[in-house]
Amino acid sequence: MARYTGPVCKLCRREGEKLFLKGERCFSPKCSFERHGYPPGAHGRQTQWRRSRESDFGKQLRAKQRARRVYGVLERQFRRYYKQALKARGLTGFTLLQILESRLDNVIYRMGFASSRSQARQLVTHGHFMVNGRRTDVPSMLIKAGDEIKIREGSLKNNFFKGLPELAEERPAPEWINRDTKTLVGSISRLPERAEIDANLNEQLIVEYYTR
Ligand code: SF4
Repeated sequence: MARYTGPVCKLCRREGEKLFLKGERCFSPKCSFERHGYPPGAHGRQTQWRRSRESDFGKQLRAKQRARRVYGVLERQFRRYYKQALKARGLTGFTLLQILESRLDNVIYRMGFASSRSQARQLVTHGHFMVNGRRTDVPSMLIKAGDEIKIREGSLKNNFFKGLPELAEERPAPEWINRDTKTLVGSISRLPERAEIDANLNEQLIVEYYTR
């Protein structure tokens, strides 16, 4: 269960856009991208982002990296998801995005039970969640329609979860998510449509990257 442990805001600055990886901080004036709107590194301030001069490969690479960073997935696992999408019926790029969206950490984030995917991931690895009545600590678990996700009874006594119903209520959930913010139980009714997934992700370029 390897994960990226380096500086997170640097990733937004590398991609030249806000990836919203740090929960509430991303919406505050403390956001690093708002304060330092240039690429990271010693010469970042002088270089700015050179998107228009980028090669096709550069564009494909950036599209793949952006998706990996948004969902917090390392290269090996991302490639595995791509192969899984390739074998499935339908459009490979779109299926890849649906697989990423159905990860347990993403579903918990979409339910509003965590402020970011990385927080959701941490809550799962600490064993606070149950899927279909069984405790799990695997954030990459893929959730299917009808699977029930809830917080472990013992964890509900934890101060974080005591205040969660109010916080979750303030966070909007997409249509494909069913949730009860009072009891902190949820499920998915179906996989998301393309319009319900981040429009800044370019699945076509990701497919081109892997089929070079
Ligand atoms: Fe990105 Fe959030 Fe950091 Fe801003 S605060 S740079 S949006 S991770």
